[in-house]
Amino acid sequence: MTQNYRITLLPGDGIGPEIMEVAQKVLTIVGKKFDLQFEFQQALIGGAAIDATGEPLPAASLDMCRNSDAVLLAAIGGYKWDSLPSHLRPEAGLLGLRAGLGLFANLRPAKILPQLIDASTLKREVVEGVDIMVVRELTGGIYFGKPKGIFTTETGEKRGVNTMAYTESEIERIGRVAFEAARKRQGKLCSVDKANVLEVSQLWRDRITHLSQEFPDVELSHMYVDNAAMQLLRNPKQFDTIVTGNLFGDILSDAAAMLTGSIGMLPSASLGESNPGVFEPVHGSAPDIAGQDKANPLAQVLSAAMMLRYALNQQNAADYIEKGVLQVLHRGDRTGDIMSKGMNLLGCRAMGEALIQSLEE
Ligand code: NAD
Repeated sequence: MTQNYRITLLPGDGIGPEIMEVAQKVLTIVGKKFDLQFEFQQALIGGAAIDATGEPLPAASLDMCRNSDAVLLAAIGGYKWDSLPSHLRPEAGLLGLRAGLGLFANLRPAKILPQLIDASTLKREVVEGVDIMVVRELTGGIYFGKPKGIFTTETGEKRGVNTMAYTESEIERIGRVAFEAARKRQGKLCSVDKANVLEVSQLWRDRITHLSQEFPDVELSHMYVDNAAMQLLRNPKQFDTIVTGNLFGDILSDAAAMLTGSIGMLPSASLGESNPGVFEPVHGSAPDIAGQDKANPLAQVLSAAMMLRYALNQQNAADYIEKGVLQVLHRGDRTGDIMSKGMNLLGCRAMGEALIQSLEE
């Protein structure tokens, strides 16, 4: 029986529309193969929304996102809007979307593709076979804890304050997402904290350990964040799934991503409790190459695959897209950002066509 899904597309700014066009075509082709019918609806966000409506996230866009099964976002931002006040800048649209959909879990895979192993700055033997998922808490911790601000002390000196705080329920809900993700992978979860120094981390460790009773099939370990940073560079293959708070996750997910050395290849997912999740590439809007048909569309396409896997539970269709991406890379097709000697240099559109051809074969 045909499954119907309503997908909100947010192309945004810069290279966004170019890479979104490829992802939409890929979804349509794969839908036909797996009996999935996609109803696409497009909405404005970021600079494009500011130009059209004066706001980075118009209410109509958020409504459309809420009223769908999943949201596929490209990227926002660009030089044109950099001098606007912060609440009117494109980034405010992204923050508004996360808050409006209650997206508290950010999933960032870092997988070394055999064809791109030499794009990593680390030695081949260190990164070969790396396949890590970082699950980062997104709406709590030190970025949101109160009190926060710059205050003046009794002596007239300025004092900057942020507060790292997590409640038990905040820890448990991100923990649950991470255990579930580990279950879909190799069944190993490493929880990263700083429990030797921070009370908030002691509570984190305690609740994650308690939660592990519900997931006896997942092997849980704990690591201090300083050691985790070191181990990611020393022996990244030891990790399968990592769960951590907002600040540590911000840093570790970028470090893990860079093991792969290719920003144009990295997808991500942000999930909430009841609202639809948002799936987007890790990279930004790349204004330096926008409109020049030079962008790599594969992170956007792999974000669509993540959407199929995590929001729509269509594992086979997700696998099919991921295999298609490997196939074009295996054939030697490359965009500029992942180009190496002897390979075929393609533009964004041609890379999309090459991928679609391999998916149709
Ligand atoms: P960026 O990721 O846009 O670009 C960094 C570099 O990587 C650039 O040289 C760019 O050309 C290249 N690059 C990025 N994606 C690529 C792709 N798919 N194919 C080929 N090359 C690619 O980061 P930046 O330059 O720091 O930021 C540019 C704009 O994007 C800013 O306005 C920033 O605020 C915004 N931004 C948005 C998001 C988002 O939408 N989630 C994330 C990061 C940055």
